[in-house]
Amino acid sequence: MSGSDAQAVPSADPREVLQRRFGFPSFRPGQRELVDAAVAGRDAVGILPTGGGKSLCYQVPALMLPGLTLVVSPLISLMADQLRRAREVGITSEALHSGLPASRRRQIMADAVAGRLKVLLVAPERFASAAFESLLPRLPASLLVVDEAHCISCWGHDFRPAYRDLGKVKAALGVPALALTATATPRVRRDIEKVLGMRRPFRQVGSFDRANLLWAVRGVRSREARVPLLRQLVARFQGARLIYAATRRRVERIRNAMARSGLRAEAYHAGLPDAERSRVQAYFLEDSRPLVVATNAFGMGIDRSDVRLVAHDQLSGSLEDYYQEAGRGGRDGDAALCVALRSPGDGRLHRSFLDRTHPPIRTLRGAVELWRRGELARRLDRRRAERAKLRAVAHYGRTRACRRAVLLGWFGERLEEGGCGGCDGCGGWSGVLASVGSR
Ligand code: ADP
Ligand code: MG
Ligand code: ZN
Repeated sequence: MSGSDAQAVPSADPREVLQRRFGFPSFRPGQRELVDAAVAGRDAVGILPTGGGKSLCYQVPALMLPGLTLVVSPLISLMADQLRRAREVGITSEALHSGLPASRRRQIMADAVAGRLKVLLVAPERFASAAFESLLPRLPASLLVVDEAHCISCWGHDFRPAYRDLGKVKAALGVPALALTATATPRVRRDIEKVLGMRRPFRQVGSFDRANLLWAVRGVRSREARVPLLRQLVARFQGARLIYAATRRRVERIRNAMARSGLRAEAYHAGLPDAERSRVQAYFLEDSRPLVVATNAFGMGIDRSDVRLVAHDQLSGSLEDYYQEAGRGGRDGDAALCVALRSPGDGRLHRSFLDRTHPPIRTLRGAVELWRRGELARRLDRRRAERAKLRAVAHYGRTRACRRAVLLGWFGERLEEGGCGGCDGCGGWSGVLASVGSR
């Protein structure tokens, strides 16, 4: 028994841990099942929407299990946030990453080996360090947690090569793994299970469907026809309104066109100075009926619950991205419209972007060279994955059937037959406008 076991809660009732340590009355959907699986020593995959409460799924087990819970997290900023929250509820935790001086890292590792920590957060790149690798067998670990586990898969949207080594880490530790992500495509899930070498994992997939979001796509004949349509749309809605566009230039253009017709709109993208971005964020949070035109840089950490309209000047490069952006609507549970405009040449921008980020292999010599380096299969896989994402977006844009079914289908969810009644495929455009209560 190490000193930290004094922290472990002797009674094995997760609900009690939840209430006493976290002060929450009840588990959210899926949390209890994942906690139980982890405490029972079973490999598990938890797929819950953003904000669904994935951290709690390992924090409760960490308090109940003896020894250490090792948590892999891809970004220092995410680690800092998790560290703060774990400490708030009194879990002895540290985070290990390249931002720390070597002496501090050594101290943390010594604490971990000596059993003085309940939770150790690590960046995946740590596993490439020999010092850390030699430490693994000596860690008194009970559970390996892989947060943002979609990074394992090139079908996920933030593929991180270092995540590929996590199977070895799991084997070296000899503990069950709990993989957590909001990316629910079946391919990503399969990759996660395979790379981690999971055996008969428990799977908990929370529903991504949000009934108060209404889905629609409007066809336009040309790019020029988009702005007038956007203008009409934003005029119909009370509450906060958000327009997403693909490029900074396009953002400026739409904002200026709005301004010319006398509508106040603010632009937001990563090219603006910090002060300007803060100003626009504050406007979006505080104005009674703000209109912001933004690239996908807008959204992280912006919590306004009464967003009534999320209009996309054009669909995003993947349905994951689209769902995340559009999903900023209606957080208060009231109806919100998620509408995207579509015109014939739309796929071009994304395709040319794809050709730059995942270039095709054009020559035999190029292919052979990649093959020699052992990279050919991965390169082909990644390009194929990216192309499949674009095809799914195109299908969503074109379908005449239930749009919600197409969207959720990409996340591996099947809707009941008969359509959702909350999209233009099911209820027509006028039906959608009526249910969203726009003027
Ligand atoms: P995710 O990682 O799934 O996006 P987080 O773990 O960051 O979500 O949790 C989102 C928020 O939900 C946090 O503020 C957390 O404290 C809160 N939360 C998690 N579980 C519960 C619960 N059972 N009851 C109430 N709030 C919860
Ligand atoms: Mg999280
Ligand atoms: Zn529908």
